[in-house]
Amino acid sequence: MTNINLFRNRPVAVIGAGVMGIGIVQVALLAGHPVHLFDVREGAAAAAAEQLAATLARLADKGKLTPEDVASARARLHVASSLNELRDAALVIEAIVENLAVKQALMRDLEAIVTHDCVLASNTSSLSITAVARGLEVPGRVVGMHFFNPVPLMRLVEVVSGLATEPAVADAIHMLAADWGKTAVHAKSTPGFIVNRIARPFYAETLALLQEQAATPAVLDACVRGAGFRMGPCELMDLIGHDTNFAVTQSVYEANFFDKRYQPSLVQREMVDGGLLGRKSGRGFYRYP
Ligand code: NAD
Repeated sequence: MTNINLFRNRPVAVIGAGVMGIGIVQVALLAGHPVHLFDVREGAAAAAAEQLAATLARLADKGKLTPEDVASARARLHVASSLNELRDAALVIEAIVENLAVKQALMRDLEAIVTHDCVLASNTSSLSITAVARGLEVPGRVVGMHFFNPVPLMRLVEVVSGLATEPAVADAIHMLAADWGKTAVHAKSTPGFIVNRIARPFYAETLALLQEQAATPAVLDACVRGAGFRMGPCELMDLIGHDTNFAVTQSVYEANFFDKRYQPSLVQREMVDGGLLGRKSGRGFYRYP
């Protein structure tokens, strides 16, 4: 499995056509793979394909891609209407909702469809890869392939190994990520892995300041940007999506036996309850056209 040629130009399937799925599809297409995209929400994968076509056209306008690159990438994308259409994939990357039971159910369904050597990767931000693989016939093929948002721009990929993950599978994914132009790191399956573990207090303190009405989101963002960060914490949470960010915090909190350091925020829960999910819903801390 350490051989990168196992994946080269072979079909990659992406499940979940949301914020992350679209970005992963773009990267895999531009690396030359045929890509299947599936989403359980009616019309979501087709809408994502249209959004992606517009992005590729913009890149061509800027001279970053040739019209031929765009045409061939678009021709390689297949919008699947059922999981069965993913059966020839060499690699499946799931980027669905951050919920362990839903991811486990999806992995079980996939095992009945894909070939025995297909790698099953999860883009989970925080859930245990050991748990995602639990109960499968071949748990050794499950690995975390954790991209960052926005996927085409962010270089880092955490390659996460659970207790059952075959080292050769993690190595192959590490090499593939590098082949896709990413900087890959190996990580163990601990709650939040590396980046999300470090990032939790960043968001938690921001949300605590907001709850105390110490400053507005705009002031907090201006301060953090002024200190040299690319984005402020509020605009970053809007980009991530508050539903996803809240689910990640809950998962890290629970997995750390309810350690108060990771306690989720009431401010964020109110936003999720109200559908203020950030960019993807048109409103979070800020409004988006
Ligand atoms: P999202 O809400 O934007 O998209 C999720 C998509 O998955 C939706 O379109 C939904 O319809 C689909 N979906 C849900 N259940 C499904 C199922 N059973 N089968 C097929 N499709 C299903 O979420 P997102 O922000 O793209 O996050 C997806 C995953 O990536 C999560 O595990 C999240 O933790 C992780 N992640 C998110 C970010 C981020 O910044 N948003 C960064 C890194 C990792």
